[in-house]
Amino acid sequence: MSTAAGSTAPTVVVGGGAAGCVVARRLAERGEPVLLLEAGCDDPAVARALAGPGRIPAGADWGVTATVDGRDAPLRLPRIRALGGTSLIQGGIALRGLPGDYDAWGALAGPSWSHRGLLPYLRRLEADQDYPDDRGHGTDGPLPISRPGPAARQPLHTAFLDGCAELGLPSCEDHNGGGAGGAGPVPLAGDRRGKATARDRYLEPVLEHPGLTVRTGVEAVALEFAGDRAVGVLVRAADGGAPRRIPAGRVVLAAGAVGTPALLQRSGIGDPAALRAAGLPVRAALPGVGTLLRDHPAVHLPFGLDSGHGTEGRPWFQVLLRLAAGQVDGLADTALEVYHDFRLGLPLAHRRALLVASLLSSEGTGVVEPGAFPGPPRVRFHYTGRDLADLTAAAALGLRWLGTGAARTALRPRRVHAPGGSAGVLHALTTAHHLHGGAPMGDDPDTGGVVDRQARVHGLRDLWVADVSICPVPVRANTHLLALAVAERVSDLLTAATDPAPGG
Ligand SMILES: Cc1cc2nc3c(=O)[nH]c(=O)nc-3n(C[C@H](O)[C@H](O)[C@H](O)COP(=O)(O)OP(=O)(O)OC[C@H]3O[C@@H](n4cnc5c(N)ncnc54)[C@H](O)[C@@H]3O)c2cc1C
Repeated sequence: MSTAAGSTAPTVVVGGGAAGCVVARRLAERGEPVLLLEAGCDDPAVARALAGPGRIPAGADWGVTATVDGRDAPLRLPRIRALGGTSLIQGGIALRGLPGDYDAWGALAGPSWSHRGLLPYLRRLEADQDYPDDRGHGTDGPLPISRPGPAARQPLHTAFLDGCAELGLPSCEDHNGGGAGGAGPVPLAGDRRGKATARDRYLEPVLEHPGLTVRTGVEAVALEFAGDRAVGVLVRAADGGAPRRIPAGRVVLAAGAVGTPALLQRSGIGDPAALRAAGLPVRAALPGVGTLLRDHPAVHLPFGLDSGHGTEGRPWFQVLLRLAAGQVDGLADTALEVYHDFRLGLPLAHRRALLVASLLSSEGTGVVEPGAFPGPPRVRFHYTGRDLADLTAAAALGLRWLGTGAARTALRPRRVHAPGGSAGVLHALTTAHHLHGGAPMGDDPDTGGVVDRQARVHGLRDLWVADVSICPVPVRANTHLLALAVAERVSDLLTAATDPAPGG
């Protein structure tokens, strides 16, 4: 066991979002005392509100905003502060990355992070109803996954697939099948019980486990060390009061792509010059903390439907075009999605639609900065001219789809709002909500590695990171499955570190 000799304190997991729920469950199931700390509440009314298309309830968002180089308007980055985290608001799209994404990670950090290495963890979390006998898919994990069939489709979704075929774009029956991209049905996580969140599907079944303690309304403000060992977490309660110390046998960070790097920085771990500039002490020089934050920059093309209005009770998200760079001439890693504009509420939503064009990997990345405590951390994105040109091409593909016979006949689209050129795209650029990176894995701390191949923070002991912030490469998928799979893998690493040495 790698924790401080003689410590009887539990493993403390900071952050009860997607990744934190996985780690808490797996450690508790394996008989390890675990304390899960979550800054937000555990309130079914809040969870219900977040499951729908309405406003985020007061206090349930961290209030993170990003600046984008070259434009004034800030970008809101919803990050949910509640047990279940951003998993509570995610739309249920259960998409794996393309195999090449994980292989790029494996090339940096060894085969256990490659597609082959991570596949068992993707399978472990899935209960894929459409491929129950397929060894490429998981069959008995916590997350029920299925793809809406043709009978559930709205005219909008059928026109999308037909229009993509008309444009000669490849099709893809199973986006999680490990093949190339194309247009096809979206895998969704959920069942009759509703959308599958990490809180409900991972944590709920073990909430009564004797080894697990969950504390909500407790925000970690800094980590505590004895020499180079993490030995506790300094926390403050949501209702104020003086910070107090919670002892830890070891600390596992699962505060998300913004929260994890910010907590490291606020604990004096990061780029020394940046820490000093922010008035923070320097405990460990790790210049990579807060870097290589990735998102999928997107533009929205809303339009009205003169025909093919939607009907109630069917899934909003049903179809997706995902293309790897080079698969279609002139297009980078690109996604197109179309859905009825649920943000407008019924019945208007069924007469308007949102076409979303996004870039699934970009040259430019973002940085996380600690911000002025107790305010939220800050994020800054830089996208290159090439990124903007690629996003412009993605939006142009969306317009071409709107011009197909399939779309014109079935939908008669009108009042299409499209940004013009790179300047227009920069102005209209928004987030696809797929943050990852920020505390990247890498062997060399001097050139940006924050955690080693075991997900331990370089140069410190008993400090691990278990969420999407450790991802060192762009992943061309929505990030909920990524968060769950990374946390499954890190849970195994934590267990292996706890196992007595052979013969010991
Ligand atoms: C609007 C929206 C829609 C999305 N839709 C999809 C989708 O359809 N499919 C998909 O795959 N992905 C989707 N995502 C992305 C997905 O939800 C996230 O990638 C995923 O939840 C990230 O998991 P995480 O564990 O890294 O972070 P989170 O789930 O955000 O968890 C972090 C947790 O840590 C807590 N925390 C942070 N700092 C502290 C601290 N200092 N002390 C204590 N607790 C702390 C937070 O309150 C939170 O509970 C969506 C995201 C958004 C915003």
